[in-house]
Amino acid sequence: MTVLQTTTAPAHERTHAADQANTAASADIELGAASASHSKVVQTILSALTDAHDFDSTQIKTDDESLMHWGKDWTKHFAPAPSAIVFPKTTEQVQAIVLLAGEHNVVLTPSGGRTGLSAGAVAANGEIVVSMDKMNRIGQFYPADRMVEIEAGVVTEQLQQFAESKDLYYPVDFASAGSSQMGGNIGTNAGGIKVIRYGMTRQWIMGLTVVTGKGDILQLNRGMVKNATGYDLRQLFIGSEGTLGLVTHAQIKLERQPHDLSVMVLGMDSFSDVMKVLSAFQAQIDLTAFEFFDDTAIDKLMAHGQVQEPFESRTKFYTLLEFEAPYEPIMDKAMAIFEHCMSEGWVVDGVMSQSLAQAAELWKLREYISETISVFTPYKNDVSVLITHVPDFISEIDKIVSDNYPDFEVCWFGHIGDGNLHLNILKPEHMSKDDFFHECQIVNKYVFETVQKYGGSVSAEHGVGMTKKPYLHYSRSNTEIEYLKEIKRVFDPNNIMNRGKIFDM
Ligand SMILES: Cc1cc2nc3c(=O)[nH]c(=O)nc-3n(C[C@H](O)[C@H](O)[C@H](O)COP(=O)(O)OP(=O)(O)OC[C@H]3O[C@@H](n4cnc5c(N)ncnc54)[C@H](O)[C@@H]3O)c2cc1C
Repeated sequence: MTVLQTTTAPAHERTHAADQANTAASADIELGAASASHSKVVQTILSALTDAHDFDSTQIKTDDESLMHWGKDWTKHFAPAPSAIVFPKTTEQVQAIVLLAGEHNVVLTPSGGRTGLSAGAVAANGEIVVSMDKMNRIGQFYPADRMVEIEAGVVTEQLQQFAESKDLYYPVDFASAGSSQMGGNIGTNAGGIKVIRYGMTRQWIMGLTVVTGKGDILQLNRGMVKNATGYDLRQLFIGSEGTLGLVTHAQIKLERQPHDLSVMVLGMDSFSDVMKVLSAFQAQIDLTAFEFFDDTAIDKLMAHGQVQEPFESRTKFYTLLEFEAPYEPIMDKAMAIFEHCMSEGWVVDGVMSQSLAQAAELWKLREYISETISVFTPYKNDVSVLITHVPDFISEIDKIVSDNYPDFEVCWFGHIGDGNLHLNILKPEHMSKDDFFHECQIVNKYVFETVQKYGGSVSAEHGVGMTKKPYLHYSRSNTEIEYLKEIKRVFDPNNIMNRGKIFDM
């Protein structure tokens, strides 16, 4: 890949820079909690990386602080216990790691920005973490194709900013975009707040360079729009959570920038009215977002004090919708639909942005929810059902939780325009984290039985990792899971790639 531009270090890279003092070269490495024989094997691999593959002292870490830092993602339930962290700078160095790991039967955990919510990047069993932090360059830009080549460690926001500098747009966006990496986004097929218009990460990946679990380097699709030459292996790697191999480079499609985005926040008292409002707007306007949150989310946001209450009085449900309004007639149409929804009694109150600054202010209502509720140690479930089933699904889950766990407070939010709901159960103050986790796992059974009843998915966009692994069978048949395992055996016959994630072999 030709490197045309090296962007300035993203925020998370600057944080890592402070840890440079903790780096260790292959000599005198103190390995963590692993057994002596495992430590010896890992030591052999690390020595080979420095001796034969040009790894310098900044590319291997084994100190406790680093093992804790890079051994975990955003989830808190699994204690990190990796053996070492390695930071390749090229695809060939990634290949060297994979070949050595295969030879010595050591498991690798691919690691991006570690914002994952399913413990996909958690190394809890003596794995070597392969961090893509040092592969964060933006490469060749193809204006005629509206496409750019990137390394897997490029941070999502870094790509968004690059697109903007070319007067283009990378539309996959979510609250963790400032830290998550494109390799991680590809690993989870990340979604976010613009899926209703622009689709998931998958829609934007035109090509991938991967190192398979066998150690082969494959260039998949090479950026082409049309390529009717049989199986599209690129699609298998998207959403595979690092279980088939490591993504090192990607070719990413960019889009024209949206113009004059307007935001409305509407308040409703019944969930079925939320769905009527969605239909009313979608019938006439191309929405770029249709997000939803409940009054519990508003309660917590207001207590936190970072955002303003949208209306004078509370409603039970809120939606945030966004659309391009470069021309007066679109704005008039949006106002007419809003008035229709009010006259039907579906909407109780509403507010519309008059400037981009106001639009950004309204977006905070949705974007700050995750951070605000994080102090309540939320047990998160990211599920999806057909939009048609969303109202019945929500009321069934609410009933299950309130009947069985009257102490538990539930906070709903999500990308309702895609049928994607984030169910957050907040920990009661008096309960220990362990007890709460245990109780939530019991609730899970009911939640996933309900997901199954509606033919939905136990993970809409956060992946399976370790947290959803026990529940995969609620969304995938046993026969289908056997096919998934067969595919893994083809790419990763030694089962060294992210072993124990998605399913056990
Ligand atoms: C506040 C907050 C809000 C969020 N909102 C959303 C949202 O709206 N939508 C959404 O989809 N997600 C959301 N997430 C989840 C998370 O940001 C995404 O899953 C994201 O794609 C993870 O990227 P990452 O770089 O942090 O990956 P990591 O957490 O580092 O890894 C994720 C998975 O990808 C694998 N992986 C990482 N790099 C590679 C690579 N180079 N090659 C192969 N496999 C690799 C890992 O092994 C792991 O299985 C949110 C998270 C937070 C904390």
